[in-house]
Amino acid sequence: MTKTAIYPGSFDPFTLGHLDIVNRAKTIFDKIYIAIGENGSKKNLFTAKERKLQIEEIFKDDPAITVMIFNDLLVDFARQVNVFTVIRGLRAVSDFEYEFLMASTNRAMEPEIESVFFMTSDRYSFLSSSIVKEVASKNGTYLSHFVTPNVEKALREKFRPM
Ligand code: ADP
Repeated sequence: MTKTAIYPGSFDPFTLGHLDIVNRAKTIFDKIYIAIGENGSKKNLFTAKERKLQIEEIFKDDPAITVMIFNDLLVDFARQVNVFTVIRGLRAVSDFEYEFLMASTNRAMEPEIESVFFMTSDRYSFLSSSIVKEVASKNGTYLSHFVTPNVEKALREKFRPM
C-alpha cells in the first residue's frame, strides 16, 4: 500500500528548513503532496504559481513529490485528493501552540485527519520564510545558507534595486 501525505504551507518562499522536513518525511511516506496554501488574507512575496514553479524545480527529479495549490480549507483539499495524513514541521516550542490549534481544528472538522510532526535539524531551527525575506531585502549575500539556488535567484530578482 502506498503511504501518501500532504505537506501544506505558505512556502513563501520554500526554505532549506522545509526541504529538511520533506526529506525526513520521505523516510516514512512514499508520496508527498506539497500543497501551497493560497491564503487571501496573507500578503505573500511570491504568487502561488511562482512558488509552485520554484518547488517543482527543486523536486524535478523526484517522482515522490507532487506540488499543488489549494484555495480551500485544508480539510476540503484533503477530501478532494483523498489523503488524510498531514505533515507539519516543528522548530521551537513556540511552534507548538499554533500547530496544536491547527491540528485540533482540522480534526474537529474532519475526524479522519491525522497530523504528523517532524522536528527539524538544529541548524534550521531558527529558519523561517519571514527571516529569509528579511535577509533578502537587506543583502542577498547570505541567502545560500537558507534556500536552494533557484529560490535564491528568484529572491535576488524580487529585491533587485530598480
Ligand atoms: P504556514 O503559513 O502554513 O505556517 P510555512 O511555509 O511557514 O506555512 O510552514 C509550513 C510548515 O513548515 C509549518 O509546519 C512550519 O512549522 C514548518 N516549517 C517552516 N520552517 C521550518 C523549519 N525551518 N524547520 C522545520 N519546519 C519548518
